[in-house]
Amino acid sequence: MTIKVTPYIPESYIDFSKSENVALYKAALEQVRPQLGKTYPLIIGSSHIMTEEKIDSLNPADFKEVVGYTAKASIAHADQALEVAYTAFQSWKNWTMEARARILIKAAAILRRRKLEFCAMMTFEVGKSYAEADVETAEAIDFLEYYARSSMKYAGALETSAYEGEENRLSAIPLGVGVSISPWNFPLAIYLGMLAAPIVAGNCVIVKPSEDSGVIAAWGANLLLEAGLPAGVLTFLPGLGEEVGDYLVKHAKTRFINFTGSRAVGLMIHENAAKIQTGQRFLKRCVLELGGKDALIVDETADLELAATAATQGAFGFAGQKCSAMSRLIVVESVYEQLLEKFVAKTKALVVGNGADNANVTPLVNRESFDKVSSYLEIGKTEGRLMTGGTADDSRGYFAQPTIFADMNPNSRVASEEIFGPVVAVIKARDFSHALEIANASEYGLTGGVISNSRENLERARAEFEVGNLYFNRKITGAIVGVQPFGGYNMSGTDSKAGGPDYLMNFLQLKTVTERF
Ligand code: NAD
Repeated sequence: MTIKVTPYIPESYIDFSKSENVALYKAALEQVRPQLGKTYPLIIGSSHIMTEEKIDSLNPADFKEVVGYTAKASIAHADQALEVAYTAFQSWKNWTMEARARILIKAAAILRRRKLEFCAMMTFEVGKSYAEADVETAEAIDFLEYYARSSMKYAGALETSAYEGEENRLSAIPLGVGVSISPWNFPLAIYLGMLAAPIVAGNCVIVKPSEDSGVIAAWGANLLLEAGLPAGVLTFLPGLGEEVGDYLVKHAKTRFINFTGSRAVGLMIHENAAKIQTGQRFLKRCVLELGGKDALIVDETADLELAATAATQGAFGFAGQKCSAMSRLIVVESVYEQLLEKFVAKTKALVVGNGADNANVTPLVNRESFDKVSSYLEIGKTEGRLMTGGTADDSRGYFAQPTIFADMNPNSRVASEEIFGPVVAVIKARDFSHALEIANASEYGLTGGVISNSRENLERARAEFEVGNLYFNRKITGAIVGVQPFGGYNMSGTDSKAGGPDYLMNFLQLKTVTERF
């Protein structure tokens, strides 16, 4: 059984060095602007529900601008959502994999047609620059297309060995109703990927998006409904993480939790989901993809120009607000000062500003993030040598200068804690072995990289660098769906490898039926 569509090919990116594409982006911003300030309801089954209390979403580049409001779900709404979702599951689980996959492909087609509109809304809501928003929308399309195709692998009987006198049939069936709790920093791609995968596998999903990206999440939910998703398969339930999110995690009927976000919240979910509730009839599945403290190693054989470019792009793209962002630069001492000089020069050339003006370093998402980054800027000044940046400005939006602290102790706070902003700790290593040792000393293990021309060092890193996604001689951000399956080790998560060939197995269970004739 297979769906008759073209093989998966990742979506291509828009070339913003062409003035006509820049003009199209600006036109999209103007086209979307009149939609700012709208309110988006909860979607539970076929009911669109407004609540008295709302969650407001503000433009981080100009916090006086309201991007929109979402309704705010209560505990009673969560109960209602579970009931409606279980009713929908009774029929959704019987749809063929192909029929479910077609809805994802249709959603991808709609999104491709409305690409710049979605991009523009991300610029308003989370401050993305043109290229960052475009790459993200492409990734969202890729997740839909890729999971639609990879579901075909589980559509019929799975491979088992033959056995005389018996038929043995192994098949994959959905789990039930789960909750998807997503972060704000990839408000479209990660959000859609995290719900599309369990849905195509035949589950019903309650989505609890981030409070900072409710508008784009509402757009994403409506996209799937427009593509033909039946009522109740997807429940759109914006609300507070610590209220409705926590309640759903602990609920006896929640079969699985698909979470991407911070380590602190992820660990809490891990613990809460492990406690069996009264009436609970299964062990909850938890997919937890968490933070990082990602390191790039540069050795004495490296092309230092390439290294400085990779460091600058990896550290400061989207103001360092990526789980994969390079926040530690570990350099062997013989090229340390030389590389530092190049890295600082490239960083100083970056323009801090509004995503709508296509600045290089765009705003931090909210007040909490601004305060957190500001506090680390002060901590860094006591821990290392400030090379550039070190200041932040919240007069209109939440902006922090790209900041480099050199001569950092690997155990210092700035060099070991996830800051989630444009702050880099540069660490000197005696040699390559020492650099690897420092890189691996982190509790996290998400992305990492090596810039080197030594085959021996690259092969050593291939085997010994303990991260889920390792990059050589390039930046360490920007994983492509289906090409670089993504997920971290250790405290970076369960290594579920989003955009990988086995990701759907997180949301399926296998059944073996044996008949002796
Ligand atoms: P966060 O942990 O603050 O929030 C994530 C989600 O969890 C939100 O929807 C929030 O409402 C919800 N939440 C908060 N408290 C909760 C609770 N007690 N119970 C249930 N849900 C709760 O993270 P964030 O600020 O939105 O995102 C940034 C973090 O996400 C960073 O640590 C980043 O590294 C990580 N991240 C990881 C990946 C990855 O693939 N590993 C990708 C993107 C972001």
